[in-house]
Amino acid sequence: MSYTSLRNYPVFSLLFVLLLFGCTAKQTAPEAEEETEEELTQRALAIHKRVLTLDTHADTPLRMIEPGFDMAERHDPRETGSKVDYPRMIEGGLDAIFFAAFVAQDIRDDDGNTRAKALCLQMIDSIVTSTEKNSDIVGLAVNPDDAYTLEKAGKRAIYIGIENGYPIGQDISNVAEYFDKGVRYITLVHSANNDLADSATDPDGPEHGGISTFGEEVVKEMNRLGIMVDVSHGNDSVFYDAIALSKAPIIASHSNARAVTNHERNMTDEMLKLMAENGGVVQLTMLADYLREAPPNPQRDSAVAELRATMTAISEMTDEERAALRQSFQELNEKYPNPPAMVEHVADHIDHIAKIAGIDHVGIGCDFDGGGGIEGVFDASEVMNITVELVKRGYTEEEIEKIWGGNLIRVFKEVQAVAEQIQSGASS
Ligand SMILES: [Zn+2]
Repeated sequence: MSYTSLRNYPVFSLLFVLLLFGCTAKQTAPEAEEETEEELTQRALAIHKRVLTLDTHADTPLRMIEPGFDMAERHDPRETGSKVDYPRMIEGGLDAIFFAAFVAQDIRDDDGNTRAKALCLQMIDSIVTSTEKNSDIVGLAVNPDDAYTLEKAGKRAIYIGIENGYPIGQDISNVAEYFDKGVRYITLVHSANNDLADSATDPDGPEHGGISTFGEEVVKEMNRLGIMVDVSHGNDSVFYDAIALSKAPIIASHSNARAVTNHERNMTDEMLKLMAENGGVVQLTMLADYLREAPPNPQRDSAVAELRATMTAISEMTDEERAALRQSFQELNEKYPNPPAMVEHVADHIDHIAKIAGIDHVGIGCDFDGGGGIEGVFDASEVMNITVELVKRGYTEEEIEKIWGGNLIRVFKEVQAVAEQIQSGASS
């Protein structure tokens, strides 16, 4: 290298740096502005992986008590009707779930209550047994932090809830018995009135004017123990009563926004605002009829009613009878289709609840194995599509973390803190 070239070297290197800077600036600027669809999906999937994803409602115990149903096996949802098993939770990046022991409302007498309790305990036992049998991939969770601990260990967190307070019967001591078995929320009522509360969908209308006197006692006991009060399926008065009665924030484990889709199972804006004041959370559900309004379809309605009239209790059906029933429903859906519900509808409800109640009061409870499952979020293996849609709409990682689990965990912690206060107050 000659003296001249050496002397010019800094100039050349400066030019080089300027050129390089110019080039990179030219290259990166448009990229930052125009993220491709593929890049957006990848960014969303990375967020989905990082945040805790918790689904507060699945009726999977209905399947778990079927002889031979193995949660460690992957099931085809179209062939078997099953929406959740452990392999599909892993595929969908679903970290935690509440399995609800669901007992359909039946006769409200001693016999009925005894049968309901036996079935509820059978389902709870099937959850516990399944987590023990598959302890390499899942773990039973009873406290809010268990979800994070298990996630760190690379395992799915399995929480227990009860859908329908019917198995409490008339005996308040059952609440503590269920708590001791790991139950952390109870949906007070289901599609017909029970001894605790009125249903939003009982064909005979309300009976107690909301929560009954015994139901009030149950709410008090749930507060004392640290069980979340779930108002999904209750009529509007049940919601207002629960807000007034509960000393801890409440949840709606699977309900949507009524202003977006007019259905009695969904929550009005007034209720959403109160939910925010209460500090509780509304968990969005993947039930088509709660997500979008379908045009009147009377032929379909009468075909559904006809089919329902021939049904015996699902828990008493043989495998063949259940398969035949699924087949009949599938044929009915094909013959008299309703417009599909899509992940965009889910995001519309989330947008609305976030606008009315705030981002701290919305979450997700898919209701898989209980009728939940839509186009794009058909089963547990597809829940990441919710995150992709949220990222598309501009939700930040922090907001998505709240929606996917942070909000519910916050409520869960507050419910436990209130229980501790009540218990320490009682003992002092
Ligand atoms: Zn339900």
